[in-house]
Amino acid sequence: MNLKRPHKANRTMDQNRTFKYFTLAEFLKSRKASELGIDNTPSFEVVEHLATLTGQILDPLRAAYGKPITVTSGYRSPALNKAVKGVANSAHLRGDAADLQAKDMAGFKAFVVRWLKSSGARFDQCILERSGKDEWVHIGIYSSTGSQRGEIKSMNV
Ligand SMILES: [Zn+2]
Repeated sequence: MNLKRPHKANRTMDQNRTFKYFTLAEFLKSRKASELGIDNTPSFEVVEHLATLTGQILDPLRAAYGKPITVTSGYRSPALNKAVKGVANSAHLRGDAADLQAKDMAGFKAFVVRWLKSSGARFDQCILERSGKDEWVHIGIYSSTGSQRGEIKSMNV
């Protein structure tokens, strides 16, 4: 019997892939992309980056927090990043970052900062972001140069 491995181009993205607490689909969905008809399909490399981000930071954070965490922005294709006016070298372009929300944002923000400082998790940036009444926590695992600065800051966008 000829057991040929499937050709790379024929592999399909399994959007039902699940990490411990998150699904790949949560990192890919975007209201903006749907509105504008932007393709937000990641490369396999991006999916591996998302798996690393989740395995090393998001799953342990979620386990420690013990309550639901929503991903409001995960992967952004170049077209989507432009549409949401993301910075040119955004970690979202590489699948190296996620924006998170929880029901109690004040408590969640304080928890994330405490957890990052005490868990020993390696990360690049944690940005407590606010735009009007909307707020979220951005966590990036690597910078565009692959560094992990362990930076925590607040930003109005
Ligand atoms: Zn972000």
